[in-house]
Order: sequence, then structure tokens, then C-alpha cells
Amino acid sequence: MKLQTSVKKTWCPGCGNYAILSAFIAAMQELNIRPEKIVIVSGIGCHGRMSDYLNVNSFHTIHGRVIPLATGIKLANPELTVVGFSGDGDAYSIGIGHLPHAARRNINITLIVHNNQVFGLTTGQYTPTSPKGFRSRSSPYGSLEEPLNPLLLALASGATFVARGFAGDVSHLKILIKEAINHKGFAILDVLQPCVTYYNTYQYYRERVYKLEDHDPTDFYQAIKKALEWNDRIPIGIFYKIQRETLDEHVKTSLISVPTTGVNIKKLYERFK
Ligand code: SF4
Ligand code: MG
Repeated sequence: MKLQTSVKKTWCPGCGNYAILSAFIAAMQELNIRPEKIVIVSGIGCHGRMSDYLNVNSFHTIHGRVIPLATGIKLANPELTVVGFSGDGDAYSIGIGHLPHAARRNINITLIVHNNQVFGLTTGQYTPTSPKGFRSRSSPYGSLEEPLNPLLLALASGATFVARGFAGDVSHLKILIKEAINHKGFAILDVLQPCVTYYNTYQYYRERVYKLEDHDPTDFYQAIKKALEWNDRIPIGIFYKIQRETLDEHVKTSLISVPTTGVNIKKLYERFK
């Protein structure tokens, strides 16, 4: 079964979103997960089209609500592999309230954030991860705000898997996606995704990005130190990875385990008439 639909792509040519799509498809093929066993959730933004381009169960939800949707799906049917796709505007702005709670609950889902440091779909306004001084349609004199460090937030909130990838390195990104999906617990993968139209960062990242090596991903303080590194050198790879009981393991009764035979919902309908 083809994992890609025949829906025409509307992303700008050269957009980093293509790399994330390719890496995800390659990861799915190598993990050999049956398409009917995957559910993806996407939010609002250019990344949201992932739901249209992937031939799996999908839910294109409202702005910033990828995590609660993905959490509900996982709790209803823990047998499913649930992957949320979000953007920096979606996950780190309007949806920011959900991230620390998913991390501390350790719900067994994967969150892949297409972090292009700009609102691409709405034609280039600054987001929480835009660098200070970033000139955009909504900050013509330069953004006055310090950017958010999403990896630091995830670590401080108790995430058990924290990683960063780069859309300019698809084979490495594929490995990270596989690791994130295989991880039992809340896995966040922030992807440096250049937006060629409003913030083309390919060159900037190519000159700075390096892969984490000789790094112990079970060392929390080492992970924090690496998450703080954002200057002439920008690390990618798995910053942190530990095992802890997941929320879905705590919740003993899932919706699919509740028998549906003999259930009469007529009374319920009557109540809300
Ligand atoms: Fe990609 Fe930016 Fe175009 Fe959106 S606006 S499709 S993020 S290049
Ligand atoms: Mg964005």
C-alpha cells in the first residue's frame, strides 16, 4: 500500500516540509507499521497538509490542539501508533499549554514539530521561535522578544525523549523519527525546517548544524547543556532518552475494551433532545 496519497502538493518548491514528509514515509516503511495501525494528527499551518499527503488515518485539527487530540486517540485505543505533526506557531504559540502536560504525563505519542521560526501559511509573521530582531510582516522593526527554547521546555517538563532534526539531512531525520516512534513515552522531535519563502535558513543551518556524538542521552544535565547550545554550532540528534511509566499504562480501561453489544444510547439522545 502506498503511504503517499495522490493529492497535489501545494508547498512551495524547496520547502523543508518535503524532507519531513519523505523522512516520515521512509521511517514508516522501515518500521513496517501497517497503515491502518497509524493515526496522524496535524494542526494549522503549512505542516497541516501532512494529513492530506499521507495515506493513513488522519485528523486535521484546529489550531494548537494536536497534543490533546493525539492524547485522546491514544487513550481510546492504545494499540495505535499516534503521531502528531505541528508547527512552531501551532505547538509553541497557541498550543503551548499542552506541551508541558503531555511531557509530564508521559503519554505514549510522538510529536514532530516543523519548526521554521515563522508563520508561513499566514505569509510570514514572527513566531515564538523567531530570533530576536527578526523582521517580518508583524515585526517590521525587528522582533523585541527572546525566542523560546522548545527543547529546554520539554526537558524541564519531564519529557522522556527529546530530539532535534534538520530538514537538510533526510537520512538522519528518518533515523530520529524511527527512534521517536519506537520510544515508549512522550517523544518530541523538533525539526529545523527552512521556509524558503519567508525565512530561508538552509545556508545558516548547513554552516552550523552538527550531530551529537559522545553524548549520553540518559544524562539530564548534559541534555540541558546541549539544549542551551545555539550559536556557531547547533546540535542535532537525541538529547535525552529515558524510560518511565506512561499515562496509557496507568489508565487501565481504554474505550476499545468497553463492550458495545447491548448498549442502548436512545436514553442519552432523549436527554439531550
Ligand atoms: Fe514551506 Fe514556507 Fe512555503 Fe509554507 S510558506 S510551504 S513553510 S516554504
Ligand atoms: Mg512555522
